[in-house]
Amino acid sequence: MEVDILEKGAILQRDKETFAVAPHIPGGFIRVADFKKLLDTAEKYNAAALKMTSGQRIAVVGLKEADLDAFWKDVEMNIGWAIGLCVRMVKFCPGTTYCRHGKRDAMGVGMALDKEYHGRFLSAKFKIGVAGCEYACNAPLFKEIGLTGFPEGWNVTAGGTCGAKPRMGDVMDENLNDADAMEMVSRVFRFFESGDWSPKVRLGRIIDKMGLDEFKKAVGV
Ligand code: SF4
Repeated sequence: MEVDILEKGAILQRDKETFAVAPHIPGGFIRVADFKKLLDTAEKYNAAALKMTSGQRIAVVGLKEADLDAFWKDVEMNIGWAIGLCVRMVKFCPGTTYCRHGKRDAMGVGMALDKEYHGRFLSAKFKIGVAGCEYACNAPLFKEIGLTGFPEGWNVTAGGTCGAKPRMGDVMDENLNDADAMEMVSRVFRFFESGDWSPKVRLGRIIDKMGLDEFKKAVGV
């Protein structure tokens, strides 16, 4: 088949014969035993390479289509939604769990957001970023929803995107505690999920079209 196979998370490679898959690894954190199993399974099915991705995943490159089902059964991991119109990633950093610069619990909040939103189907791709301090290592300002941690709380932005036409997210609110930041994420997400948008139109373009004040009104900020 010379196209991506969405339901198997399989991305057609340049050779038009083999596929890459990217198991879900929330925040890029993986237990040693699971990592070993991933390596063993990639070796078993003769993967050409492993690729550390910008979405905090480990892509297994060069699998044959005939091996995809067996690969997923053996590796016992969920699909990381690297393709399709959906929440592609909730990218988060170690925050106060491991990083000496951390000001907020980016891992805790990121894990909770990942559980709630990763892979949810939408009219366009959508990314969420959570950074534990102002250094913003994972560029939350360039995600559809971004949380940046400060000593006083979370700053939440909406409408960011990278790629060919980058756009910096607009500030929705500042100095929020964990619960209020997650409620803000929920409001922005519900606005996008419930709208009747043209396919592939990203949140930032919608905000530009309707105006920031109207958008804020619509999400109740
Ligand atoms: S954003 Fe801050 S807390 Fe997160 S990894 Fe970077 S320096 Fe550490």
